[in-house]
Amino acid sequence: MAAKLSAAPAAVTEAESKATASVERLAPGGVADGGPSACPKCFGSGLEVVPGRGARRCGCRGADRQRRLLEAARIPRRYQSCMLRSYRPAPGEGSQLRAFNYAFRLVREYPAVDRGLLFAGPCGVGKTHLAVAVLHGLIEKGVACLFYEFGTLLKEIQDSYNPAQHTSELKVLAPVYEAEVLVLDELGAVKPTEWVRDTMTQIIGRRYNDKKLTVFTTNYSDSRRTPAEETLEDRIGARMRSRLYEMCKTIAVEGEDYRRHFDE
Ligand code: ADP
Repeated sequence: MAAKLSAAPAAVTEAESKATASVERLAPGGVADGGPSACPKCFGSGLEVVPGRGARRCGCRGADRQRRLLEAARIPRRYQSCMLRSYRPAPGEGSQLRAFNYAFRLVREYPAVDRGLLFAGPCGVGKTHLAVAVLHGLIEKGVACLFYEFGTLLKEIQDSYNPAQHTSELKVLAPVYEAEVLVLDELGAVKPTEWVRDTMTQIIGRRYNDKKLTVFTTNYSDSRRTPAEETLEDRIGARMRSRLYEMCKTIAVEGEDYRRHFDE
């Protein structure tokens, strides 16, 4: 266990509106015991080689294990049907097709993948959809995954300091450290106080050191369109941004807010 996090401040201001107060804990047999690779028997191929007998369908593809992995991944209900096959790149929007291709390739090639993805762009262009679709694809391959909206994670860590809840920060953080593939949604959405930066540094640093794959989404980009606009680096700091360059392929996703279609 890396150094203990500094004490949480009283409030995680900007995140609170989005954060869910409930702290759902992982079911036994969830992400935390998912194992160090895609599947130790078939290495993500779905076929287990039995010496002297040939190949057979691997147990990791069993419906029961899939269901447990899906539950443990904590994908919000709103995004539960987000699959690669249901992602429709907007016509003429090359960045969305490119983003889809990176997501597709990650799923196809995992575990032979050493960098995650960072989807950056405005609201409603499908960043979270694609990140969740990656999780669904990997869960089908038997990989233990976890989804967290960044503000929710900070809120849960903060709440875990509350002695009345009899929880410790490690209970929240262990699955985040151990998940084979983690989605951290809305990076930078929380006001970057010193505590938020320390916590983020600890989480991302731990996964970086353990060479675990992380897929990020963020509404902040690397360049500013107006002088007042904040960049991702402004929100998470130069050191963290630099580390993410190493951990992830950055993919700018552009386009109109897809949610407008819901109105039509
Ligand atoms: P972002 O994370 O970029 O803010 P979301 O992924 O949350 O956007 O997308 C908002 C909603 O629109 C979700 O319900 C998502 O499934 C849907 N959506 C966005 N882009 C697409 C797309 N290209 N194809 C299908 N659904 C999409």
